Amino acid sequence: MFTTVPFSQPSQSQLPDDLFEAIATLKQDLNAVILAHYYQDPDIQDVADYIGDSLGLSRQAADTDAEVIVFAGVHFMAETAKILNPHKLVLLPDLDAGCSLADSCPPEAFAAFKAAHPDHLVVSYINCTAAIKAMSDIICTSSNAVDIVNQIPLDQPIIFAPDRNLGRYVMEQTGRELLLWDGSCIVHENFSEKKLVQLQVQHPEAEIIAHPECETPVLRHAHYIGSTTALLKYAQQSQGNSFVVATEPGIIHQMQKAMPDKTFIAAPPTGTCACNECPHMRLNTLEKLYLAMSQRQPEITLPEDIRLAALKPIERMLAMSR
Ligand code: SF4
Repeated sequence: MFTTVPFSQPSQSQLPDDLFEAIATLKQDLNAVILAHYYQDPDIQDVADYIGDSLGLSRQAADTDAEVIVFAGVHFMAETAKILNPHKLVLLPDLDAGCSLADSCPPEAFAAFKAAHPDHLVVSYINCTAAIKAMSDIICTSSNAVDIVNQIPLDQPIIFAPDRNLGRYVMEQTGRELLLWDGSCIVHENFSEKKLVQLQVQHPEAEIIAHPECETPVLRHAHYIGSTTALLKYAQQSQGNSFVVATEPGIIHQMQKAMPDKTFIAAPPTGTCACNECPHMRLNTLEKLYLAMSQRQPEITLPEDIRLAALKPIERMLAMSR
């Protein structure tokens, strides 16, 4: 549910020698703010004005005075910034940076699912397209999902979409029955419980910290479960010195910066690949970020009716999570 502006990719020779300096200059010239998700490449995190999880990034997008928002994340995140800032230019370094979880909830199928359960309130995780947000009553993030569901009257049936793993976690934490949409994230579903247990044997002192998008067998081994921001805070406050991190490993860059004396080990994925990087998030690069700023594209645009319908449940979330 988005339109694109034609975008010509310049050659390597058009790139400046010092991208960090060039991006800093462009930021001033454009009156731009760079918002980056924790799962971005470390170089992108280092040029960002704000690094955070979905809730923090939404708040920053809602509050910014900048004229241009450069969103280093995936498409649904930049869309959220546009929903909140219709008159600002919102740039996404790579327009193909999508999300397997958002894609697992196609609007037509979800509309039929919702229509089959007309008495249900729809709570949607922010990792969904603007079209799904427009069909939702309240948006939530992994930081506030439990708190939001706890604020809904007990006799109100709820559809929770699109992530079934986060939905199961919310059911456990709230004791509520939720009707789950059967979506998932390819990154968080790919952690190997067997390899995690082997790692625990090798590092018995390490605490396992996990994102609630992980599957239940992995979450069962976790000493702490939380959003990326919550995992970062937990590691800072813990007396422990060693952590196995079960979420996209981009967050480890901020953990190591904040806690240089502590050890962070990325939880192992299934298969032979050594890491669990999100292929969508990693489409953004520092070069593409520079090019987006210098060319003021690719730009995120949205039909106004979808934007207005998607705005309401986001505003409800922001009001309920203050
Ligand atoms: S980590 Fe998963 S939920 Fe996050 S952007 Fe990548 S595919 Fe989507």
